Amino acid sequence: MRMKAAILREQGRPRPYAQSLALSIEEVDLLPPGPGEVLIEVAAAGLCHSDLSAIEGIRPRPLPVIIGHEGAGIVREVGEGVTDLRAGDHVITVFAASCGHCRWCVKGRANLCPAGNAARSAGTLRSGARRLFQDGKPINHGSGLSLFAQFAVIERRSAVKIDKDIPLDDAAIFGCAVMTGAGAVINTANLRAGDHIGIVGLGGVGMNALFAAVAAGAERIVVVDTSAEKLALARQWGATDTFLASDADCAEQVKAATGGGLDTVVEAAGAMKAVELAYAITGHGGCLVCAGLPESSGRFSYPHADLVSSEREIRGSYMGSCIAERDIPRLLALYRRGKLPVDRLKSGELPLEGINAGFDRLAEGSVLRQILRPNG
Ligand SMILES: [Zn+2]
Ligand SMILES: [Zn+2]
Repeated sequence: MRMKAAILREQGRPRPYAQSLALSIEEVDLLPPGPGEVLIEVAAAGLCHSDLSAIEGIRPRPLPVIIGHEGAGIVREVGEGVTDLRAGDHVITVFAASCGHCRWCVKGRANLCPAGNAARSAGTLRSGARRLFQDGKPINHGSGLSLFAQFAVIERRSAVKIDKDIPLDDAAIFGCAVMTGAGAVINTANLRAGDHIGIVGLGGVGMNALFAAVAAGAERIVVVDTSAEKLALARQWGATDTFLASDADCAEQVKAATGGGLDTVVEAAGAMKAVELAYAITGHGGCLVCAGLPESSGRFSYPHADLVSSEREIRGSYMGSCIAERDIPRLLALYRRGKLPVDRLKSGELPLEGINAGFDRLAEGSVLRQILRPNG
């Protein structure tokens, strides 16, 4: 089938993207779903900071590529062997593709499946298949999803079926920001009621970490960001202490206010300066959970004797350590009870043609989650 998509042909074009047209809206051919694959109509796709990193070029991608890794859609066709999804089903997409039978998949860490990683680097689906072409030449798949398009062919394992009463624009946000932010708190950090948590960076991921910390019963929730507006929102939504990251003595202020630091700190900004700050406010015996993805070349150094004698931990958290088919239903249950109010994070809807201006706003740091509606 023919469809419209936003293609990234070159990384590192200058801002404003609305002028440099970092993403170009073009017609492409999408082949029908192969065995174990499904065709979905993309109902809603979030504009995430990781997409911005791909546009900026700080994380290299095979080009040309259709990016977009946070979304929800409606199944339109299923490939051979897909028996548990049918046309009309609503799904949330999963950006960490997995095989289901390697040693990581079977021990409950499907988010780390090497086959998924390899496919992302190769620009294919996890099976190695390609379904995107233009004039007979392949266009690379992004994260096995390529959601900045009207339709997508994805693997069955990259879709989690959801109830039809959940608005698809809310559902989309679960595909990355909710799993990454809430998962970092609930899964990776295993936060317990009464814990003291810090959250550095209040984008879509950081705000979902905040919602999850409130839901999990954290006693103290310290948030840090460069935006006073976002700090004010966080306070309304349950943060107990707010600090401006732009203050030169921010880390000292947090340590003074928390008796030396916090039990858990979630870094959700994806910037090396934020990682340094987050480590500095992690208390004795505390754990720094790094959920933000900075540039590939980012390096972090820490005082090693201090790590040993204070028993601090540093952990990575990819897709919130989520097993999508286990965690999306339980996160949606929290949403239904009003504990993950993702609708508060929405900063407007965009048509496909508005995507470059949308990334300009995201780069300015003035918005939380803009939702692309590729089919209007
Ligand atoms: Zn994302
Ligand atoms: Zn696997």
